[in-house]
Amino acid sequence: MLLVEKASRMNSIPPYLFAELDKKKRELVNAGKDIIDLGIGDPDIPTPSHIIKKMAKACEKGENHRYPPYPGTLPFREAVAKWYKNRFDVELDPENEVLALIGSKDGIAHIPFVFIDSGDIALVPSPGYPVYHQSVAFAGGDSFFMILKKENHFLPDLGAIPSEVLSRAKMMFINYPNNPTSAIASLDFFNSVISFAKKHKVLVCHDAAYSEIYFDGNKPVSFLQADGAKDVGVEFHSFSKTYNMTGWRLGWVVGNREVIKALGLFKSHIDSGIFSAIQEAGIEALTGDQSSVEVMRNIYQERRDILVKYLKDIGLDFEPCNATFYLWVQVPKGYSSTSFTSYLLEKAGIVVTPGSGLGEGGEGYIRISLTADKKRIEEAGKRLSSIKF
Ligand SMILES: *Cc1c(COP(=O)(O)O)cnc(C)c1O
Repeated sequence: MLLVEKASRMNSIPPYLFAELDKKKRELVNAGKDIIDLGIGDPDIPTPSHIIKKMAKACEKGENHRYPPYPGTLPFREAVAKWYKNRFDVELDPENEVLALIGSKDGIAHIPFVFIDSGDIALVPSPGYPVYHQSVAFAGGDSFFMILKKENHFLPDLGAIPSEVLSRAKMMFINYPNNPTSAIASLDFFNSVISFAKKHKVLVCHDAAYSEIYFDGNKPVSFLQADGAKDVGVEFHSFSKTYNMTGWRLGWVVGNREVIKALGLFKSHIDSGIFSAIQEAGIEALTGDQSSVEVMRNIYQERRDILVKYLKDIGLDFEPCNATFYLWVQVPKGYSSTSFTSYLLEKAGIVVTPGSGLGEGGEGYIRISLTADKKRIEEAGKRLSSIKF
């Protein structure tokens, strides 16, 4: 029993979509079944040891035990700027164009509060990371879902957004390399986003969490490499995927200084920064030996190749995976995203994510994460081959 009614914003939280699936999974595990979980997007590879060692040392420093600076330590922000210069040839002013985040989710979930008033619209990709539309809803705004379609290479069709939506739109989220479709965006696409943003006065929030997970030389570009990007937006980034640091909670946002300043001000009233020792570990990650990143790419690539071989043999249609650690697979005729997900769990003991759980644009697909070792991926492939669709 609860003494009071919950705030109405709590009504905007949908029931947990995967609850039924989770229940089924638990039942099967309890019955002694061997379940292969390829549902979650959490890397199974450990954080590189030189980063952990740096953290251990940094924990012992007394000055790190005090409140950290709100926007992130200056050496941390300088390391981010240096990394951007090396990786993308993008110049950033560490003092005004870089903000440390408690994981990129911190920034993504809070930025709507800085720009969205009740009745404002955010343009949000579907399928997509659920945090985008949920945080817009918490801020009192409405989401207009830009459906990512195969025929558009899973890029939003900016020309298809109705004018009455455009007149209320204040911001847009985009995410390339894309979770869940694994699509990569070109500089041409980012250029068209910038023209669109200028014309319709829309703030662009690009989520680049997967920029370092790419294969076969398909190196993704940064939104900030496009001319004028800093005039219209920001780019979110994370240590989670590049350095297998999901549990550490460290990320950043870079770009337009007014946006950085406003988000920093908002956050200064919510959190009190990031443990400075974690930021020291982040500096080590960005400026130290990068060989772990190449090793990681090779691991995912090997897993991808194993699964792709099985999918081809079976005759399931899937998108070419040139980036991210997700395979975006079409469900066979006669199934929906959720019915196929349930079928795979029951018949093969494999957990995947139903595309529809990531938005209506994901209906007709499942997402398979390459976050299990190659033996398990191989086993999953064998099990898939042994069932009928
Ligand atoms: C994993 C992921 C992130 C990273 O979130 P963190 O808060 O930095 O761990 C951001 N966006 C997308 C789409 C992701 O899949």
